[in-house]
Amino acid sequence: MRTTSTVFSLATLLWAIPASAQSVPTPESVLGFSVGQDFKLARYDESITYFEQLAAASDHIKLIKVGETSFGRPWTLALISTPENLANLERYREIAQRLAHPAGLTDEEARRLAREGKAFVDISGGLHASEVAGAQHTIQLAYDLVAHANDAAVHAVLDNVVLLLWPSLNPDGQDIVVDWYRKNVGGPYETAPLQELYQKYIGHDNNRDAYMLNVPESRVIGRVWREWEPQIIYVHHQTAPFPTRIWLPPFAEPIAPRVPAVMSREVNAIGMLIAQGLEENGQPGATHMGTGFDAWYPGYIDYLPMLQNIAAFWTETALYRYATPYFYTISDFPQSMRDLRPGTLYPSPWTGGWWRLRDAVDYMTTASRSVLEYAAKYKESLLYNRYQAGRDAIRRYENEPPYAYFIPQDQHDPTAAVEMLRRLAFNGIRVSQLTRAAEHEGQRYAAGTWVIPMNQEFAELARQLLEVQEYPDLREFPDGPPEQPYDAAGWTLPYQMGVRVISATAPLSGDLRSAIVPLSADVGAVETSPNAPFTSSVLAAGIVPPEGRVSGSGAQVSVDPAATNGFRLLNRARQADGTVRYDQATGHYIVAGIAPSQVTSWAEELSVSATRTSATGAAAVGARLGLYKPWRASMDEGWTRWLFDQYEFPYTTVTNADIRGGSLRSRYEVIVLTSDSPGGILNGFAKGSVPPRYEGGIGEEGVRALDAFVREGGTLICLNRSADFAIEQLHLPVQNVVASLRRSEFFASGSILEVITDPSHPVMAGMPNRASVFFDGSPVFTTTEGFEGRALAKYADHGSPLLSGYLLGESHLQGFAAGLDVQHGNGHVVLVGFRPQWRGQPLGTFRVVFNASLYGEAVARGTAVASDFWSPPEE
Ligand SMILES: [Zn+2]
Repeated sequence: MRTTSTVFSLATLLWAIPASAQSVPTPESVLGFSVGQDFKLARYDESITYFEQLAAASDHIKLIKVGETSFGRPWTLALISTPENLANLERYREIAQRLAHPAGLTDEEARRLAREGKAFVDISGGLHASEVAGAQHTIQLAYDLVAHANDAAVHAVLDNVVLLLWPSLNPDGQDIVVDWYRKNVGGPYETAPLQELYQKYIGHDNNRDAYMLNVPESRVIGRVWREWEPQIIYVHHQTAPFPTRIWLPPFAEPIAPRVPAVMSREVNAIGMLIAQGLEENGQPGATHMGTGFDAWYPGYIDYLPMLQNIAAFWTETALYRYATPYFYTISDFPQSMRDLRPGTLYPSPWTGGWWRLRDAVDYMTTASRSVLEYAAKYKESLLYNRYQAGRDAIRRYENEPPYAYFIPQDQHDPTAAVEMLRRLAFNGIRVSQLTRAAEHEGQRYAAGTWVIPMNQEFAELARQLLEVQEYPDLREFPDGPPEQPYDAAGWTLPYQMGVRVISATAPLSGDLRSAIVPLSADVGAVETSPNAPFTSSVLAAGIVPPEGRVSGSGAQVSVDPAATNGFRLLNRARQADGTVRYDQATGHYIVAGIAPSQVTSWAEELSVSATRTSATGAAAVGARLGLYKPWRASMDEGWTRWLFDQYEFPYTTVTNADIRGGSLRSRYEVIVLTSDSPGGILNGFAKGSVPPRYEGGIGEEGVRALDAFVREGGTLICLNRSADFAIEQLHLPVQNVVASLRRSEFFASGSILEVITDPSHPVMAGMPNRASVFFDGSPVFTTTEGFEGRALAKYADHGSPLLSGYLLGESHLQGFAAGLDVQHGNGHVVLVGFRPQWRGQPLGTFRVVFNASLYGEAVARGTAVASDFWSPPEE
């Protein structure tokens, strides 16, 4: 097998436009403008019209429908290769599948298949829709390949490669951005930022959802990748560190520790080869590594596949704004870059001048072509390396721990394990089950216990998601502050989702092995309808939640908030004009006024176990819920909306104007502020930066209106950073004790910490006493003179609360509160010092958001009891 170092001597082919172009339509003839033209962007439907005309004119391209987006747009994938390869696709797909799932294959057979097979290369643009060039470059790339398919250089590539080309990885976002730009182009707001997320709920976080698969787009993409098992996945982005023109792998440190080395090497080699291709094409300014783009977090859709033994990566081409050109001079450059000194990994510094959309498209097109050339030249290695990485994972976990993970059915939240396991199965991890009770390492496991045997090809992905992360202690300089991780430092799913998972440190006995039966993992059977939670999606993998039922007798039904799905039942009852009350004695919700057969059918559908009771519950839960939506598009707001929709909470979106309008108490019982900076909430977009209707935040008027809302008996919920807003602006007798600490004293960004909860408080109902929370630049509370209220959760007095990720300065947490219920006038401000709904991942704390959303005046009044759960630590 070739060593990857030889690629550095590989000369990139020149893609000159020859005279022998096939007669296929040009993009200009269909779009009415050339790709990358100043001020012009193609919408998704226009792009697809072009692809359809191209496919009608050539036998080098085939289109397939792959599913639907969140807003219901049909979604298209293009396959580009020689007509011979396209005619034999099924055989090549079979080979890709066999090498990706290598159990039972010999090295000899794998080599033969690698020789026979073709490289599958997946390239896309448009994932981040505001990074506009990606989804335009795919049009150009398709045209260049198809129009010149018979030229020797292109033919040599297509003969060895099947290109899976997504015109856009985010069709909804492409149209949102293009429509916005078209409305503003030529006017004063031509380059103004967008006022909405470019995905129905999650915007930029569409590249943070790879393992959770919360939105339909992630599931469609994942399913296509499992169907084709490409060897390379390449996603284009556009946030090059200025003034460089394109950032390319190798990635910055740290990389995800479980990624197979051979895949990292392939990606490093590809990054270097793209840079060389750019130089040969006279496109300067490429850089690598040291720019903050580390590869620690596996939630990137363009990096997680590394853990499925695929060379997956992204690049970052420069962007000004939309399709507007910009002229840069050296004085725009940061001081340290003005000497234009060449560096080892930046040997051709960009010297400024015009930067146009067309330039970005050209850089991307060169980069994509370089990747295709690499794939054509190293086709056999690429195919064989996928086999080898899978083979090695299987072998490794035959011989070293963890040999398996056990997931008992008996869990704090009965459906949480299913939510977790179905996601793993969707990502190609095989889940098995015990057919009878068995014992391992002194633990007895009941029949039905789920097992993930680790001798499987995607074992490293399972490990990366299930085990604890120990983020390295990297400093900006010796004894200096920690470097900022590019994304989360810890994400361990069993902690986030509240699932008990036990890893097998000793080999499984023959007896135990004989009790384990694999469940089928047919990911194609997962229903990908928008908003379907995993527990309600159809999955043939046989990962079935425990049966829901209603037992006992009595006129009412008691629902334990430990069951997260129970909130869906409560909301259905409310929608059906039933009443839901909170019962302080049991900490359960009581449903009344719904026919028994109806409750039973909901319980069965939702896998909820509920009990009939004669208790009525004292306090009706809050009915009118408002969710604040700032114009500076907020992903945390979007995720909260997603969460409420998933769990069927009725709510109203509240804008700046609604808040400034006052009289909030007559409209809402509970208002939620999602995580945002105090300045963001107060001031919003600066005057003149956006069309006037989007300017500003809630302002002083809005602060007064929120203050009155709470004083008149309303509940204001402040998630994570918005707690600082409430503390400052409503003058609460509360302090964020980490607010003024330097990063060298205290730092934890995106990590999982342990808190001690007070489940007797309604907002914490159903929480375990010790709970994992996602901490992300979060506030930590103490109270001052005049405080009335209760703590919801606190950090232990001693030791480190770190469970997964990175924490510096644990003493700044010890003994302080992680959540507070602050009495303010007749109402309450609930301060949550963590991210209970972060990216839809910490299922174990969703109920904190749900309980808080139901925590209206009646519940608060009925449950206000003295508590000695927490008192502020001595200074
Ligand atoms: Zn991006």
